[in-house]
Amino acid sequence: MRIALFGDIHANLEALEAVLQDASQQGVTDYVCLGDIVGYNADPAACLEIVRQMNCPTIKGNHDEDAAGSHSLEAMNPVAAQALEWTRKQLSAEQRQWLSQLRMVRQVADFTVVHSTLDQPTHWNYVTNRFDAMSNFSYQFTQVCFHGHTHVPRVYLKSDKVLEVPAESVAIEPGMKYFINAGSVGQPRDGDWRACYVIYDLDEQLVVFRRVEYDIVTTQKKILAAGLPEMLAKRIQEGC
Ligand code: ZN
Repeated sequence: MRIALFGDIHANLEALEAVLQDASQQGVTDYVCLGDIVGYNADPAACLEIVRQMNCPTIKGNHDEDAAGSHSLEAMNPVAAQALEWTRKQLSAEQRQWLSQLRMVRQVADFTVVHSTLDQPTHWNYVTNRFDAMSNFSYQFTQVCFHGHTHVPRVYLKSDKVLEVPAESVAIEPGMKYFINAGSVGQPRDGDWRACYVIYDLDEQLVVFRRVEYDIVTTQKKILAAGLPEMLAKRIQEGC
């Protein structure tokens, strides 16, 4: 069984399609979506419909929650807030309802998925170092947990202490716990513009990070044509 875990799509249709094509070429049999389907980029409805029709386990991200709601976005950074106001108008009431019913945490096969952290999934905390990861591990009751939210691929490993190891191929070893950030499909922030996701091979007990090129020029044109902030078109190129 080969499972693709993909999230932080952020309404980037070209990146999502490229990832799904790559996953199918890699012999992926099952899919899990790690949330933040919408927000920032120009194709929220199309991305939502693709994920919904895949009918795979899907968890809620903070942008999904904000797009589904009608609360004020004043506390948010202005660019994200502007994009979310725009996103709310692009989605039907029924699509927003679908986003709002997504769960925060799920167990799939023998692993867990959450958008931010297991210790406080509704607080949308960012895990940027091994100390942040420690809080999560206290609430992680499966050997492996996948998450997203920071848009930076990362692997935290817990044995007698918590370590960060390179986000490359990771062999899942007995006696260790793993908290793995699958990176971002639609807006990577690790300096690499290519779409990022992971494949978990349950039989081989191996997690592999994948980077996939996509038609970024089309994505950028759509962002500008939609009247979304110009920096959103720039940052996907820079991977920041
Ligand atoms: Zn995100």
